[in-house]
Amino acid sequence: MKDNKSYNKNDWGSLSMGEFIDGELSKDPSTLKHHPALVLNADYRPLSYYPLSLWCWQDAVKAAYMERVDIVAQYDKFVHSPTIKIKIPSVVVLKDYVRPQKSVAFTRFNLFLRDEFRCQYCGNRGELTFDHVIPRSSGGTTRWDNVVAACSPCNLRKGSKSLGRAGLHLRRKPRQPTAPELQNLGRKFPPNYLHDSWMDFLYWDSELDA
Ligand SMILES: [Zn+2]
Repeated sequence: MKDNKSYNKNDWGSLSMGEFIDGELSKDPSTLKHHPALVLNADYRPLSYYPLSLWCWQDAVKAAYMERVDIVAQYDKFVHSPTIKIKIPSVVVLKDYVRPQKSVAFTRFNLFLRDEFRCQYCGNRGELTFDHVIPRSSGGTTRWDNVVAACSPCNLRKGSKSLGRAGLHLRRKPRQPTAPELQNLGRKFPPNYLHDSWMDFLYWDSELDA
């Protein structure tokens, strides 16, 4: 933001968080949570899609002050110190490109995301658990290629049986996803809250279809 540049850095340095808070905002601390900034990588794509890369407004303001980010869009709300008044950033872009991680962490969350939050046996969405395709009791390991998301009924039905004996079929063979694959899947699952100013930077499939 070009206005930013004209501020005396010493002014920023003297700010305390208490001074930062606008009268209206400070009355209800919970509203502070409601002004997150979408964080873009230097290529103007979100730093991550799932979870969507968001900073609380304090971090966004601090990063702007540290000149680590440029402000791309703003909320209609101000924060101020005795000498400075700025609009809360709603979109910030990193000045230095952060290389996306190449390998994907084997976490519950990433596994659900890979399976698109669907039971890999019946396709149901809803309350999901994990199932070892080759049961642990038969030497099955806890790895990308042997664990899938499963609904409780399917999990129960499968128990410690093999696929064949349980009469279940996998919708697709589980394997380790690549980071870009997970990123692409993440776009399908936008968070509940999306500020208007973020839309230019998010490429949900629904938007592309429209
Ligand atoms: Zn199921």
